[in-house]
This record gives sequence, C-alpha cells and structure tokens, in this order.
Amino acid sequence: MKISSALISVYYKDGLEPLVKLLHQHNVKLYSTGGTQTFIEELGIPVTAVEDLTGYPSIFGGRVKTLHPAVFGGILYRRDLDQDVAQAERHQIPNIDMVVVDLYPFEETVASGASEEDIIEKIDIGGISLIRAAAKNYKDVLIVSSRSQYGAVVDLLTEKDGGTELADRKQFAQAAFGVTSHYDTAIHGYFAGITADDQSSYKQLPANPLRYGENPHQQATFYGDLEAMFDKLHGKELSYNNLVDVDACVNLIDEFSASEGATFAIIKHTNACGIATAATPQQAYLNALACDPVSAFGGVIISNVPVDLATAEELNKLFMEILIAPDYAPEALDLLKSKKNRILLTRKPVTLPSKMIKTILNGVLEQDQDRQTEVAAQFKTVTDKAPTDSELSALEFALKVCKHTKSNTIVLAKEGQLLASGVGQTSRVDALKQAIEKAKSFGFDLTGAVMASDAFFPFPDCVEIAHQAGITAVVQPGGSIRDQDSIDYCNQNGLAMVTTGVRHFKH
Ligand code: 5GP
Repeated sequence: MKISSALISVYYKDGLEPLVKLLHQHNVKLYSTGGTQTFIEELGIPVTAVEDLTGYPSIFGGRVKTLHPAVFGGILYRRDLDQDVAQAERHQIPNIDMVVVDLYPFEETVASGASEEDIIEKIDIGGISLIRAAAKNYKDVLIVSSRSQYGAVVDLLTEKDGGTELADRKQFAQAAFGVTSHYDTAIHGYFAGITADDQSSYKQLPANPLRYGENPHQQATFYGDLEAMFDKLHGKELSYNNLVDVDACVNLIDEFSASEGATFAIIKHTNACGIATAATPQQAYLNALACDPVSAFGGVIISNVPVDLATAEELNKLFMEILIAPDYAPEALDLLKSKKNRILLTRKPVTLPSKMIKTILNGVLEQDQDRQTEVAAQFKTVTDKAPTDSELSALEFALKVCKHTKSNTIVLAKEGQLLASGVGQTSRVDALKQAIEKAKSFGFDLTGAVMASDAFFPFPDCVEIAHQAGITAVVQPGGSIRDQDSIDYCNQNGLAMVTTGVRHFKH
C-alpha cells in the first residue's frame, strides 16, 4: 500500500528529519501539530496545520489539538467499506494513511522530580488516541509510535518504495499497543506510587519492532531503550542477531578495564573469535584479529578505548557488522563511515539489569546475571608448581573470556591474547581438541600457553591432552570427586594448576 498522507505529531523532533524528507520525496501530504509543523516548515517542506484540517484551533494550552472527527475519521474509516468511504466524502474527511507520534515524556518528567502539575500536563491524550486509532486500523494505516522506530520505518519505506505491506503494518500496530500499554502502566504506577524499579515486566519497556527474529520467518520485537545505551553514529538498524551479539560484546568487554590496556574483542554468534589486550588500540585489534581472521569476517567488534586513525585504518579492511567503542577520533570516524552498512556505536554509561530471563516450557526462568569474576589473588594453587607471573595474568585473561563463551568451553591464551577456544561442545575434551586444532591452524605455538575451563575436569584426560599440546598452566573451578587425578597428572608432568571454586556455565 502506497502512503499518500501522514499526520506527524511528535514531542522530540530529533531524528525526524530523514523520515519527513523521505515522505516528502514520495509526495506524501503532511499534516502536523504546532511545534512539529514549525519543525517541518523549517526544513522547507510543505505541511498542512491540523487546525486547517479540523477548522478548530489548538485549545486549552495544547490539551486539545488533534481530538477531532476530521482527524480520527481520516484515520479510522474503513477504506474497503462503501458507506465509510461515502461518509468520509460527505463530511470532507481526507484519508490519513500514516500516523507518526512520539508521546509526551511522562516517565522522564516523573524521573526529573517535576511538580505534580507538570507531571499531569505530561499525560498525553491526543497522541495516545492517535496511536490507538491508527493501530486499530492497521489494515489501512501505518502507525509509528515512538521515535525509536524512525530508523526502522525509513528502512522499510526505502526498501518498499514508499509503501508498506499488511504484515508490516500489523507489526507496527503490535508495537504501538506495546507503547500505549507501557505508557498507561507508567501513569498507573505514578498514581499508585510504584517506582520504575518495581516494574520488572519486560512488556513495560519501550517496544521496538525488528525486521525479523533470529531467522526471516520469525517476527520479533526488542523491548528496551537502545537510545539510552548507545549513540548510533552510522549505519542501518540493528537486527535481532546484531542485538544478541552486541549484548555479548558489552558483557565481555566490561571484564576488561581500559586502565590495564586497550582491549578489542571480535564476536561471532555471541562467542569471542578474537580478543586481545595490548599497549595500543591498533595492536590490540591486530592481535584479536590474528586469533581467527576467518571467523572475524562479518563480526561484531567492541573496544574499551577510543578508536584512533591508525586502528580505524586496520578495521576498515575488515567486513564487520558493528563496531562499538567509547569514542572515535574524528578522522577515524570519517574513514569508518565510508562503508554504508557498517553500524558504528558509542556506548553511554548505563547500569545493566541485575537479572536475566529466558522463556522455557510454559513459563520463564529468571536468574541473577553472572557478574562474578575471579582474579589471580583469589586463585588457589593446587599443584606443587605455582604459575609464573605471566602465566597468572594469562590465566586471568583466559578465565574472563571463558566466562563469556558457550559451554562446554576450553579457552587457550597467552598473556593478553586469546589463541583459540572450543565453544558449545557436548564434552570438555571435544572443546579442548577443537581449541588446540584451531590455534594450530592459525599458526600459534601452544608451548607455554594456558588453559581455562568453565567447569571442573571429571577425568584427567583434559590436562593430559593440554600437556601434550604444550600448555603449562590451567585454571578451573575444581570440585570434582576426581580432582586429585588431574592434579596428580599435573604434578607428574610439571604443569601448574589453580582452582577458583566458582563454575561459569553459559548455555
Ligand atoms: P507539537 O510539538 O507538535 O505541538 O506537539 C506534539 C505532541 O503533542 C506529541 O507528543 C503528541 O503526542 C501530542 N498531541 C497530539 N495531539 C494532542 C492532543 O489533542 N492533546 C494532547 N494533550 N496532546 C496531543
């Protein structure tokens, strides 16, 4: 369905420009309210005031501006019903095929500690009604119900030449009812004296429809506020799989403090296929890439330090989906922006939730995030031989990576560099064999390397295989009834082993 007219009424105008321009390019007739109208006019784009449509001024300080049959009729009349069409003609009600609303920021106003009077004025009436009306009539109308959707809708309209399909409109309608229910829940919460911290249901978070889920036949929505987490400096919308990888990236990099050096991690399907810490960002990136340059293709990359030009020049050689960094040097950003589809993000300081949830059977599992990380000072040496200082720091490094790698996993590292990992295997022996083979295939000498295991060794086979490959130090939780078998093997063969007492499964 081609869009011929749109009503735009948004509180925050930022980010609106590309959408307005695109609609104008497609000859869409625009209607708008006070502040939004001024914004569109300033872009030099023709727009009709809602007042001209309704013949009624905005009254009561903006409390009533769009609440009028000419507006709601134009959205709600059924295009396939002759009597509706005839009524619209009789009452001179023009069709409105698209509605773009960004509601008054009720929650922000509450959070700012504003007065009750100010808070009450931030209860949007017309906007929420517009959203409900347009979402109800999704058969004929596209509803964009939050500024977080502008990018997705620009992509959609660009791809479909200014039109939409029923399935698209239905998906946006679903997101719209997510927005309205979240909004009303927040208002209810305010009246009931409930704070945002009490609102643990994810459906109360802003709903962002995604193009599709893990696969194209799966519909999906992200409930959350990406704008609060990142500034997007460049690139297309994040997909479902991008979001999952970005989450993995953020959790992994948070283990590595920039005060201990520059760290770059390259993520594929939530596992690190490369990660390294070094004195310079460029070296950290090159060491991370060296770990597995094959898997790095199409990866999601994160850094704990700003990206300078020298590093950007190296990064620019790789096809990557997303790059996340605390900041970018201006020249680095210019260079990285040269690839159209590459997504560039900067992180904002946001505290992440302390719980995680997962659907299972006919319910959900909730658990604490795995926020515990054991450092060298907490390691208990269980062998005759203690790890050297450089082995200790390599063990610490390997353990951090191990914690964020799918179980069963074995991670092999040398100081400040991942050499290889075995990921998501059904046995730890398989994980180790995979890691050894991978490391060797990319030219690493494992002599003097260290190994971290997500869980204890039920048999001494892993330390045997590791020793044969040249590995000299091991970290593992310990706690198997046969721990002593592995420890004996290490003692007989000159390996150092430390235990942490803490298992880090990640399924
Ligand atoms: P503008 O800046 O364009 O004057 O106002 C845009 C805001 O007004 C949007 O947040 C929209 O949700 C809200 N809005 C649109 N129509 C009405 C109405 O009739 N009453 C109220 N209270 N808000 C409205």
